[in-house]
Amino acid sequence: MSQPTSSPVQTPEPPTPPPANPPCAALLAEAEQAQERGDHRSGVRLAEAALAACPAGDHPLRAAALRQLALHRWRLGLFEDAILAAREALSLLDAGEDSAPRCEVLCLMAISYSEIGLQEEALKQATAAFELARQQGDRLWMSWSLNRIGTCYERLGDPAQGERFLLQALGEAQALQDADTTLTALNNLMATMVGSHYLFRRRGDEEAAAAALKKARLYGTEALALARQTGDSYRQAVTGGNLGEVLGLSGDRHAAFELLDGTLAIARAQGYRAVELRTLHSCGEVLTRCGDHEPAIELLEAALRELENSEHEATRMRVHSALHRSYKALGRYREALDHCETYHALELKRAAAQHQAQARLMVNRIEVEQALLQGERARLDAERQRLKATELEAEKHRLEASARELHRHALEDQLTGLANRRRVDRDLPQLFGRARELGRPLSMAVADLDNFKSINDTHGHLVGDEVLRAAAKIFRANTRGSDVLARFGGEEFLLLFVDTPLAVAQEVCERLRSEFESYPWHELAPGLSVTISLGLCDATPDPDAAQMLARADGALYDAKRAGRNRVKVDPT
Ligand code: GH3
Ligand code: MG
Ligand code: MG
Repeated sequence: MSQPTSSPVQTPEPPTPPPANPPCAALLAEAEQAQERGDHRSGVRLAEAALAACPAGDHPLRAAALRQLALHRWRLGLFEDAILAAREALSLLDAGEDSAPRCEVLCLMAISYSEIGLQEEALKQATAAFELARQQGDRLWMSWSLNRIGTCYERLGDPAQGERFLLQALGEAQALQDADTTLTALNNLMATMVGSHYLFRRRGDEEAAAAALKKARLYGTEALALARQTGDSYRQAVTGGNLGEVLGLSGDRHAAFELLDGTLAIARAQGYRAVELRTLHSCGEVLTRCGDHEPAIELLEAALRELENSEHEATRMRVHSALHRSYKALGRYREALDHCETYHALELKRAAAQHQAQARLMVNRIEVEQALLQGERARLDAERQRLKATELEAEKHRLEASARELHRHALEDQLTGLANRRRVDRDLPQLFGRARELGRPLSMAVADLDNFKSINDTHGHLVGDEVLRAAAKIFRANTRGSDVLARFGGEEFLLLFVDTPLAVAQEVCERLRSEFESYPWHELAPGLSVTISLGLCDATPDPDAAQMLARADGALYDAKRAGRNRVKVDPT
């Protein structure tokens, strides 16, 4: 039969400050008082009532209630339920807020996972708590989380590593001069050294086992002195009970009983039932170890009767284990076998419950993770959709702009920005139609740069292009916005003077001719001069675009023939 590897060390968590929202706050305050009294059944009820009274939207307050609930459940050994409450609390605690509540919840999860036997999970939570506390420079929670980490390692079967972390926890606690955390670290160190002692003994290393026990005794002695200093009877009882068992293990029966009797007295006076029963077992265990089997059996059987139907399963198992050994030592194998079988049945039950809880927690965790994952996926999808919509919108704008540009290009001369032939063909019939209907005057001119070929030849094509652009500028500057100006390709332009009788159009053409003549072309290229010839006609009562164009062209031809740089009007 295996020995328990360590004694459970109970240390209350530091109290949390009461939030301010009655009646939830009042209930929470009561739940905290129940915590101090060690009345965890009331604590659970009060925390549940606080949770029910808490406004759904008040996350910090709900988290505080869930934290209390987790704490009391943990104290009652309802580790799985404690984890569920702690998880919910954690989901409500904002990462940006005060980190202490999150550290506390993480530590609660760590110790509960640890009790259920999920040490790796426990270690993860405790490490997260430590990281958080370290970032915030919160030595108190650094110490608490280091305590949890140390305990995990001890339970993972690595007491040396456990001791290392616990000593760090002790260092932080001592730096803070905080009795609570210092006591916790010392108690955990004592328990870890007891675990170490059993480990070495199983390996047959008696020397190392004795050394571990000596350390346990040192840590325990320091812890008890501190517990006495604080004047807290619960701490004294817990620490005294732990140290008493260590002393018994070391064979110091007298000192052990002195302590254990004192602990029993405090526990009975104060009604610390769990401590009392555990101490009764410790007394029996010391007697068993010292070979006083008959008084041991008497004491342990009495303890067992008190433990019947109680929730203190772990203590009951220990009692069965001690009884098995004492009966066996006395040759009473029938009874020894009974206790051995009961012990194993309880052990099996405990293990099965633990595995079921582990499985439920892991399934639950997977579900939570899947839900989180799904949420995240949905968020990403929405984001992707949003981006796609934005992209589509932008693309639509781009396409529309391109279409507009294309359309513009299709109807516009690239070089000068004037209308092109296509646009003229599109717009002219409508303009002619309107003039016809309204009986408005309409004049048309065709303009052609003089000797443009030689300009190109003399000054180059690029200068030629510049001349064309300048020409467009001159046309624009000397006509109205309603007039149609178009480049017909090459150096030929069409000018349609809307609502304009021939005489006025002729004036405009003359002005244009003169503007070309006087334009400072030499600024474009030394020695450059440009003139223009124009042929003009007006609309007949029933105007026709092709016909007018032909007449204007004819007039232009006349102008060229007459020596260029002039305006000629169609004579018809
Ligand atoms: P005229 O006085 O009789 O009109 O003589 P011209 O040299 O202007 O006669 P023609 O119409 O034969 O020459 C037109 C020249 O315009 C031919 C061509 O090289 C040039 N040209 C046509 N389009 C462009 C253009 O976009 N850029 C440039 N630089 N030259 C062009
Ligand atoms: Mg020309
Ligand atoms: Mg020409």
